[in-house]
Amino acid sequence: MKSKVEVIQGDITQLEVDAIVNAANSSLLGGGGVDGAIHHAAGPELLAECRTLGGCDTGDAKITRGYNLPAKSVIHTVGPVWRGGGVGEADKLRSCYKRCLELAEERGMRSIAFPAISCGVYGYPLEQAVEIAVGTVIVGLYDCQSIERVVFCCFSKEMELLYQRQLAEE
Ligand code: ADP
Repeated sequence: MKSKVEVIQGDITQLEVDAIVNAANSSLLGGGGVDGAIHHAAGPELLAECRTLGGCDTGDAKITRGYNLPAKSVIHTVGPVWRGGGVGEADKLRSCYKRCLELAEERGMRSIAFPAISCGVYGYPLEQAVEIAVGTVIVGLYDCQSIERVVFCCFSKEMELLYQRQLAEE
C-alpha cells in the first residue's frame, strides 16, 4: 500500500486529483491557512455549497464539488485542536484520515491529496501528526479498491522531509 503513497512539496490548490482534502473548521464557512487558500482558489460557489452542509464535527468529513479548482471535489475534514494530547486528539486525527478515505472510496475516486491536517493553527506536534497521517492512510488503503494514489501535499520543505522520513520507516 506504501507504493500508492507519495509526498510532494507544493500548494494543494494546484493539484489535479479527484479530491483534495481541506483542513477546515467545524463551521465549514472558511478560515485561514489551507482552508482560506482552497476557498480563494475554488471561488464563492464553494462557500455557498458549504453553507448547505450544517457544519462538521471534529474527526468527521463532508464532500463538495471543486468548482474552479483543478480537483474535482473537496473533502472537508475538521482536525482536532491540540490541547496537550489528553483529550482524544490522536483518535480524532486518525478519524479525519479514515473518514476522508471512506468518502473518496464510496465515490469511486482514484486519487486524493491531503494537507497536514491540524499542523497549522491547530498546533498538533508535527512528528506525531505525520506518524498518524502516514500510518492511518497506509492501513486504511487495505480497505480501499478504487484509490490508486494518495498524495501528502506539504507546504514547507520541513514538512516534506518529515513525511519522507516517516514513509521510509513504514
Ligand atoms: P489546521 O487549522 O488544521 O492546523 P492550517 O491550514 O492552519 O490547518 O494548516 C494545516 C497545514 O496546511 C499546515 O502545515 C500549513 O502549512 C499547510 N498549508 C497552508 N496552506 C497550504 C496550501 N495552499 N497547500 C498545502 N498546504 C497548505
